Amino acid sequence: MDATHPDDLSPASILVSAGRPPRVPGAGLNAPLELTSTYVADGPVNYARAGNPTWTAFEDALGALEGGRALVFASGMAAIAAALSLSPEGGVIVAPTHAYNGTGSILGDLVEAGRRTVRRVDISDTPAVKEALEGADLLWAESPTNPMLEVADLPEIIDAAHAQGAIAVCDNTFATPLVQQPLQLGADVVMHSVTKYLAGHSDLVLGATVTADTARGRELHEKLLHHRLIHGAIAGPMETWLALRGMRTMHLRVERAAANAAVLAERLREDGRVARVRHPGFGAIVAIEVPGGEEAAERVAAAVRLWTHATSLGGVESLIERRRRHPSEPLTVPENLLRLSVGVEDVEDLWRDLSRALDEV
Ligand code: PLP
Repeated sequence: MDATHPDDLSPASILVSAGRPPRVPGAGLNAPLELTSTYVADGPVNYARAGNPTWTAFEDALGALEGGRALVFASGMAAIAAALSLSPEGGVIVAPTHAYNGTGSILGDLVEAGRRTVRRVDISDTPAVKEALEGADLLWAESPTNPMLEVADLPEIIDAAHAQGAIAVCDNTFATPLVQQPLQLGADVVMHSVTKYLAGHSDLVLGATVTADTARGRELHEKLLHHRLIHGAIAGPMETWLALRGMRTMHLRVERAAANAAVLAERLREDGRVARVRHPGFGAIVAIEVPGGEEAAERVAAAVRLWTHATSLGGVESLIERRRRHPSEPLTVPENLLRLSVGVEDVEDLWRDLSRALDEV
């Protein structure tokens, strides 16, 4: 929570104040929800696939938060597809072994179609990442990874990518811009599943890219803008408006969820009913492994009452999920791993419910 911003406003103040209409007498405090497909001719935007004032408000806020220029997309996956398209046909992409499984699926499709070479590597193993980067065109960093929670040395691997002339992209969904701002660490592009912490209420699906304020970042922004316009994976104004509303309280939500997660991780580490606990020391995702394999893990997920057995993360409500129930999850993710997305409920209630579920197994 101590990241500073180039304008000297703290992230909390940016979250509350950015992306608001100009302060003129009679203006609304909040950005309008503009529901239109087209605009009267000869204005700055002709058609709503190219732009919408609700997008602009959201993009201004997220751009200020990450220290770059944001573009909103229909989903995190649409933003991932756009960002990966920045690498050339036939090019080489370096990506984490345990990147989000949707990212893994797109990369798999690109390889199968003969369109890219993809080198998967443990993103926390800096020498291995550097070796894999030789001759690469794009580094896809995700830190911490989903769901194994490995942490990358971002400044080092971004530098190494640039030394090869590669574009450095970072999926910042798990960390959030409150914990790390990859553009300030040298990245060219940040990608978000806005669905998660930014929007924060599990009520919409949305994605975003943010590009650095550098010559290369500006060039990549134009390419991403073109991609969004042509491929058409555009955000609904309603979802975008809700995401901006959700972002206003992200610092409060994330602070509380992270504090809850720290308490739970510590107790789980001391607990004989749990074989292994992963928590990077920040953020609100914890992964646990329960003795008894896949079946025991499924039983824990089914036994909770306050927590919800559901996929996704980053909302106010606590969710639990056995990740290997998804066939696309890498086989190196343990069968008995449960991903906990800790929410903002009372931590003692969360502990009692989880503890009871562990007892039942
Ligand atoms: N990146 C990460 C780290 C994710 O966890 C997810 C979704 O779970 C995505 C990207 C994809 O985002 P979306 O579901 O909004 O398409």
